[in-house]
Amino acid sequence: MDLADDAPAEGWVMPEAAYIHVPFCRHRCGYCNFSVVANRDDLIEHFLAAITQELNSLQRPRIKTLFLGGGTPTHLHNPILKRLLESLDKQFDLSKMAEFSIEANPEDISEAKLELLADKGVNRISLGIQSFQTKKLLNLERGHTHEQAIAAVELASQYIPNVSLDLIFAAPGESLEQWVQDVTIATELPIKHLSTYALTYEKGTQFWNQRLRGEKKELDESIEIDMYNFTRQACRRLGYQHYEVSNFAKNDSRCLHNLAYWKGEGWYAAGPGAARFVNGFREVNHRSTSTYLRRIKEGRSPVAEREQIGVTQYAKERAAFGIRLIDGIDLRALSQHVGFDTQNLLKISIDRSVNEDLLVQQGSHLRLSERGILFADTVAQRFLDS
Ligand code: SF4
Repeated sequence: MDLADDAPAEGWVMPEAAYIHVPFCRHRCGYCNFSVVANRDDLIEHFLAAITQELNSLQRPRIKTLFLGGGTPTHLHNPILKRLLESLDKQFDLSKMAEFSIEANPEDISEAKLELLADKGVNRISLGIQSFQTKKLLNLERGHTHEQAIAAVELASQYIPNVSLDLIFAAPGESLEQWVQDVTIATELPIKHLSTYALTYEKGTQFWNQRLRGEKKELDESIEIDMYNFTRQACRRLGYQHYEVSNFAKNDSRCLHNLAYWKGEGWYAAGPGAARFVNGFREVNHRSTSTYLRRIKEGRSPVAEREQIGVTQYAKERAAFGIRLIDGIDLRALSQHVGFDTQNLLKISIDRSVNEDLLVQQGSHLRLSERGILFADTVAQRFLDS
C-alpha cells in the first residue's frame, strides 16, 4: 500500500505514560547525541518556567507512569529539582503513579537528593553507571569513578525500591574479560534491573569524528556478540528475566514506562527534543534548548515536527517495536486492534526472517529466535519496510 493512502486510525486510547526531558548535563560525553546542553546552568530557571507552561497545556491527564529523563535530571540542584517535582505533582498527582522513574548520574547522588526524590514518589532510579572501570570510564568521558559508582548504587537502594543500572559494552579497546567484570560487579550490587547497550558511533558526535580520523576503532563484531551472549547467560543464571533485547529485570521489576513504548500504547512528552505519540499523532519538540525556551516564552508551540500516523504505518511500527520484547507479539491481537490482517501485511518480512532463523512463528504468535535476538534491528527494519 502507498502510505499516502494510509487511512488515519481511529479509536485511540488516551496514553497512561508521560516523559519529561531535562536537557542539562555537566559535560557532553563524546558518544552522546541526545538533546543536551552542557555548562548552561544559566538556562535552568528559564527551563523551569517553560516546562511548567508546557505541562499546564496538558490539562492534568491521568497517567500511570512518569519518566524524568535527559540529559541529567539529577544535575538540578535540590531546591530547583523540588520545584520541578512540585510542578509535576500538580499536573499528574505523583501519589497515584504506578511507576515514577528518574535518570541519574552517580556524581549527583547524595542522601539529601535521594530523600527529596523518595519523598516526591520516585520509586525507580536509572543510574548511568556505564562501567565500573576507571580506564573505560575515562574513555567514555564519564565524570565518575569506580568508587563513586558503587557508593551511588548502594545509597540509592536505601531510598528507592527499584534501582536500575545502564552499562555500555564494546567500548574502544575493551576486552571480554573487562566486560565480564562490569556485569559481575553490577549484578552483585542491590539492583533490580539492568540495561546494557553496545556503544554506537552516532553521526554528529565527537566519537563519530574520532572514528573517522582513525583515533577510535569499533570493536570486532564477534567480541561484541560474545559480550552480549555473556550478559544474557549471566543474567539468566542470576534470576533476571531477559524481557527486551537490551533489558533484564529481577522479580518482575520490568520498566512499565518503556513497556508502553514497545507496546505502542502512546505517551505524552514535554521538554526540548521530547517526542510524544497521542491520539494517532507523533510530535517532536525542537531539539535545541534555546529554541525551545524562546518559542515557549513567545507563546509559540515548541513542536518542530507533527505527523499523523496511518493505520498501516501504526501496525508496522507496533510489530517493529514489539518484536524487541523477548515474549514476542501476537498478530491476531494486533490485527483485531488495527482492523485488518497484519499477517498478510508483514508476510514477506516474516517468511524471510523465519527462513533465516531470525524469527519463530507459532500460530499467530511471533518471537525472535535465539539467533534473531542478535539481529533484532534487522527484523524490525524489515517490518517497517513491509
Ligand atoms: S550524561 Fe548522559 S545525557 Fe549527559 S551527555 Fe553524557 S550520555 Fe549524554
